[in-house]
Amino acid sequence: MSEPTSIQALARPEVLAMSAYVSARSGAGSDGVLLNANEAPGSLLQDERWAALDLHRYPPPQPAELRARLADIFQVPGEQVLITRGSDEGIDLLLRVFCRPGQDQVLETIPCFGMYRIATQVQGAGIVQVKRDPVTLAVRPQAVLAAIRETENLKLVFLTSPNNPTGDVLPAGLLDEVLEATRGRALVVMDEAYIEFCREASASAKLAEHEHLVVLRTLSKAWSAAGLRCGAVLAAPAVIELLGRIMAPYPLTAPAIAAALAVTTPEARERQRQMLRDLRREKERLVSELAGVGWVQDLWPGEANFVLIRVEDGPRLVRHCADRGVRIRDFHGQPLLDNCVRLTVGSSDDMAALRTALDDFQP
Ligand SMILES: *Cc1c(COP(=O)(O)O)cnc(C)c1O
Repeated sequence: MSEPTSIQALARPEVLAMSAYVSARSGAGSDGVLLNANEAPGSLLQDERWAALDLHRYPPPQPAELRARLADIFQVPGEQVLITRGSDEGIDLLLRVFCRPGQDQVLETIPCFGMYRIATQVQGAGIVQVKRDPVTLAVRPQAVLAAIRETENLKLVFLTSPNNPTGDVLPAGLLDEVLEATRGRALVVMDEAYIEFCREASASAKLAEHEHLVVLRTLSKAWSAAGLRCGAVLAAPAVIELLGRIMAPYPLTAPAIAAALAVTTPEARERQRQMLRDLRREKERLVSELAGVGWVQDLWPGEANFVLIRVEDGPRLVRHCADRGVRIRDFHGQPLLDNCVRLTVGSSDDMAALRTALDDFQP
């Protein structure tokens, strides 16, 4: 066997030793008379829209047209794109490829997205949780860099920009320092689920120089398509090849592929620009209103499509709104987030309903 590359050397030995399952659709062509996948010869659905989907066929595992489309909107070469069932699948694949149960470690900066920890626990890896600043909730660069230096068998460093639920973007220069500190040791995963809402540039421009950088993008938030379950891992081809080895043979359904192509057309992108403008306007109004409310003790506007606030009794505010049909997210009890509540910015009607609920809250 040839010497593993530097990225391969970080993978679990079991994954390095295996080869991917070769499915009927990945191994052979998909034209001609298809008698190699035990499919039915035709769909039971006669309606034109269903018929166009060829539901009786297994879908292409990584459809070329969608891959090219995502490469275009995320501004990377196609070879750096792995289409996934949402970012959640990307996170899970990274854990399963790179982290040995009982030995390897993952680093995250809490509070952050809960799925990094869940995927780590499922895999049986260890988690190093570097606390953010208790007042600003911003990442503490020196604490992160120190933890990277001190952690043995560190394999994945999760960074999120803008972060959920705090909304802040990563301090300038920190990604470069983390990439430097992890070179040859660990992968750095930049989760950019909310990047379209802010003016920051994607870290994907750094992929060519840094083989150990991974960027997660999703259609769930700024592309208005959470129901699709479609995202992308952007990474060096060596990383994508490893993730592909353990991925389900047909991760994307035919309706999801068709819908992902539809929500990324130029016309849909024009509507997206309008939606982002509308959400920015609704958010500015919400933030200025909350800033004038006496019972809002802390306010983190952030750069994404939500705001985080702290009140005297967070769970009571969440119940109060729920009683009026408005659901907001309770973070009480999570580290550094006592009595914190996250409010997603919605349509102007949604915001009017929220305003009505907040107006008659008695703290
Ligand atoms: C919402 C969110 C995602 C998106 O996950 P999907 O599986 O793509 O829907 C990823 N990361 C963060 C931080 C999020 O808040």
